[in-house]
Amino acid sequence: MNSTESRLDQLRGPVPPVPHNARTIAALTSNPGCARRAVMDAAGVDKRTVAARVGFPPPYGQSPFAITRTRAFEAQVKANGCAELLRMLREVLDLPIPEVAYHDLEEAAGNTSQNVRHALARQVLGAAAKGTDEFGTLFDHPLLRLPVGGRQVFLEPDLIAFQFQGVFHIIEIKSFAVIDGQADGGKVAAAAVQSGVYVVALRQLLKELGLDPERVSHDVVLVCPENFSNHAVATKLDVRRQLTVLNRQLNRMTRIDELLEPLDDDLTFDLAPDRDGRPTRPVGELCAALEHIPARYSPDCLSMCEMSYFCRREAHGTTHALGRTVSEELGGVEWVEAALGLAGGLLAPAPEQMEAAMVLRAAMRLRNECFGIPA
Ligand code: SF4
Repeated sequence: MNSTESRLDQLRGPVPPVPHNARTIAALTSNPGCARRAVMDAAGVDKRTVAARVGFPPPYGQSPFAITRTRAFEAQVKANGCAELLRMLREVLDLPIPEVAYHDLEEAAGNTSQNVRHALARQVLGAAAKGTDEFGTLFDHPLLRLPVGGRQVFLEPDLIAFQFQGVFHIIEIKSFAVIDGQADGGKVAAAAVQSGVYVVALRQLLKELGLDPERVSHDVVLVCPENFSNHAVATKLDVRRQLTVLNRQLNRMTRIDELLEPLDDDLTFDLAPDRDGRPTRPVGELCAALEHIPARYSPDCLSMCEMSYFCRREAHGTTHALGRTVSEELGGVEWVEAALGLAGGLLAPAPEQMEAAMVLRAAMRLRNECFGIPA
């Protein structure tokens, strides 16, 4: 085990790691400058439990009910050798698929180790891409791999990659409903980013095999229940825009070993559970450990990260807590109090704050005019 892996193990403590998935990669790439999330995710720290321990239980998360519903719907869509799924794929991709070979890649001859499963997915998908006859068409749960912050991350997609005439399509099965042809825009947007993560990972696999990564289509297929029924409907989604953002953000991410470099050697998020699994780690100590790694809170965190209530409290009074647009406009002005001082002319701007100070004074003038306050 290399030193990066052993440091990450120490950060997590003696518990199994929380694995990455497309959702966590999407969240990481939406805030690539946050070292705290990058380190905690790389170490597989259970952020939900840590946040609850420090008194800020997360505001969101998939309910057990939603997870069960998604699994049941996925099982229904894939029943009888994916018969229902095939019917939809023929329609939505406009493909005449005469017959289909189905591969369940959830385990490799009883072996569920990630390395073995990834090797199997690589072999089977590679053979399909090369046009070997006995391989292709539907691949259930292929285990993909993606470099994130300089480390390989396994992605366990609950999807099927479909190959026809040399083109792979990512199929994403979700349990949110499409009602009268419309689905919740936020949920579709999140599904598009998550599917985009799988496209990037599958393209990476083809690249490693010396094959053209563009053979993975930017059109993914979203399968959802229709009109409050269990009837499934498939829709094609173009994720080109999401792919551009994901690739740019993945390339911008700092390497994990560089993020670990300045951290104290004895830093850990070990919750020291008692015999019943209840955390015993002193709250103050855990807060200090969290504060040791810089974060970059923005209001977007509230819908994406389990640590968001903790980080929002910590960022209180800063301009970046007001959102990306405000913090970009006020570059060089870290605190709301300083912004108010600059706006009212009570504070002389530093050279790097001149531009922001002009914007703030103009905004203050406008505000005063609106409220009839004399200058
Ligand atoms: S909530 Fe905190 S840890 Fe999570 S991404 Fe935002 S700033 Fe980073």
